[in-house]
Amino acid sequence: MKIVNSIEKLKTGLAQEKREGRSIGFVPTMGALHDGHLSLVKQCIEGNDVCVVSIFVNPTQFNDKNDLATYPRTLESDCALLEKAGCDYVFTPPEAEMYPVPDTRRFDFGTLSEVMEGAYRPGHFNGVAQIVSKLFDAVEPDRAYFGEKDFQQIAVVRAMTKQLELAVQIVACPILREEDGLAMSSRNVRLTPGQRQKAPLIARTLKESTNFVPGKSVKEIVGHVVHTINNEPQMRVEYFEIVDGNTLEPIENWADTTYPVGCIVVYCGDVRLIDNIKY
Ligand code: AMP
Repeated sequence: MKIVNSIEKLKTGLAQEKREGRSIGFVPTMGALHDGHLSLVKQCIEGNDVCVVSIFVNPTQFNDKNDLATYPRTLESDCALLEKAGCDYVFTPPEAEMYPVPDTRRFDFGTLSEVMEGAYRPGHFNGVAQIVSKLFDAVEPDRAYFGEKDFQQIAVVRAMTKQLELAVQIVACPILREEDGLAMSSRNVRLTPGQRQKAPLIARTLKESTNFVPGKSVKEIVGHVVHTINNEPQMRVEYFEIVDGNTLEPIENWADTTYPVGCIVVYCGDVRLIDNIKY
């Protein structure tokens, strides 16, 4: 496994692979890797000749300075996990490599980047689009792998690749969960033992709510989920919306879409947890 920290070195290595006719798969991450990330890496290895993983905590997608400051960074053990998983290239650029000058680009993805995460984390998706487009420029992958845990992010990245007319295929990978249902996340390590014990309530409530569809209305389901989770003293729902999985427009009736997805963010203490469920 090669660990490279400059775009030039990465491009040189990958140019050789491409000349030799190998396909390139790419998994962008912010590190602090867990089995969720590794499930993307596995799919990437299976679907391509060469697997590239980037580890970069992208400052432009953080609207909360404290979240950026406390984001876990575990580069050494990440590289060990990637080596064991069979990754070929790890790209670990310093900030100056990705942002030699400030990126002033402003993307417009309409509704896709305005609702939910877009509304609660202003500028977040602009930062995501900035870094993912720069990483796609550096890697020029045939396929790139993203987790459905960040459901809205996939829609935004797909829209970006269309706008920029990039040839990369975006592959969506299922959410990996802990045994108790909690969606795996780099932020889970910040939960206190007490909070960690309570956190599976999110996934459990979402899953249970699917049993009431379509008997109960969208509004009733939303009310039930929010109420159940907010009843737990350590937890506060930031938003829960049931949307069309393609347009991300909120739905009012089940008949409004064939692809309803419930997207939730819950603060557990000061840890922001994201999850979603397909109805
Ligand atoms: P991050 O390092 O949080 O930016 O995540 C890098 C990629 O891994 C993103 O595409 C995430 O959606 C994906 N990912 C994170 N957690 C999970 C999970 N539990 N299951 C599947 N994919 C995940």
